[in-house]
Amino acid sequence: MLSVIIPSFNEHENIRRTAGTIAAILRNENIDYELIFVDDGSHDETWKEITDASLFDPNVRGIGFSRNFGKEGAIFAGLKNAAGDCAVVIDCDLQHPPELIPQMYRLWQGGAEVVEAVKASRGKEGLFHKLFAKSFYKLMKSSSGINLDGASDFKLMDRKVINALNELPERITFFRALSSWVGFTTERVEFDVQPRAAGKSKFSMKSLFRFAVNNITSFTNLPIHLITWVGVLFGVLALILGIQTLVKYFCGTAAEGFSTVILLILITGACVMVGIGVIGYYLSKIYEEIKQRPRYIISRTTGKSGGKEA
Ligand code: UDP
Ligand code: MG
Repeated sequence: MLSVIIPSFNEHENIRRTAGTIAAILRNENIDYELIFVDDGSHDETWKEITDASLFDPNVRGIGFSRNFGKEGAIFAGLKNAAGDCAVVIDCDLQHPPELIPQMYRLWQGGAEVVEAVKASRGKEGLFHKLFAKSFYKLMKSSSGINLDGASDFKLMDRKVINALNELPERITFFRALSSWVGFTTERVEFDVQPRAAGKSKFSMKSLFRFAVNNITSFTNLPIHLITWVGVLFGVLALILGIQTLVKYFCGTAAEGFSTVILLILITGACVMVGIGVIGYYLSKIYEEIKQRPRYIISRTTGKSGGKEA
């Protein structure tokens, strides 16, 4: 059986259409399926729509969070509760074309353990958004070696991969990179990002930025090492300046040099502050992880239960 995991946050306009579209495609291809809608603490009628959909189609299940925990939490709740031999994660807004699922499923049957759908084109996105995504992926690749170019959360995974992901102990997750970090035989299919079926994007520029910083720091220690190197660089500069000052002093030509002092204080001050800030950031991550809080809290479920939790 194929589990389809659909994170949904304030998607009441989309639930019925998405459930209908995906179910029709899978039934058409004779693929045994379950649809798992994970309601990520929506404030609208999403949960009611999911319940209705589960009454209409017994293959539809719903998991409702106690509040908004973010898409990552929703994906991992879906993985934990998936009963299938493989599972695919897909957006609720039909921006990931569900017509691709049968093709991904066949690749899985052919032996692929992960089938990644990569974006051939990014669809309608602002220039700034595109640029931001590009530089984020570049940084991720050069610092952690994981190539995320065109990557999306639209992926099909074998049971082995799902179990591997479920066993990861960390709280702060980045599904897109983790699913490549765990390894396994991977195949790729390309797709074009579709326009949103209904509603608005749930990610603001601010949340995207937080997302980027979060993910860079959970995948690479480069920023922390960078500080050391900046420190070394400034050490060398200080040495040169120090020698120069001493030479001038002994030659009796010691200038007023007031501006140099101020500049130096400013620059070192700034470097130390930035350094402490970065260290603080990693420290806060350790703090977050060590608290061992769950990634999400489930408040309600609907439809027949299959996975471990529900
Ligand atoms: N989503 C979620 N929790 C959130 C934000 C988004 O479960 O806090 C879901 C959302 O319902 C959708 C998917 O994640 O199914 C992708 O979100 P969206 O379409 O808003 O992002 P975009 O396509 O603009 O990147
Ligand atoms: Mg979308």
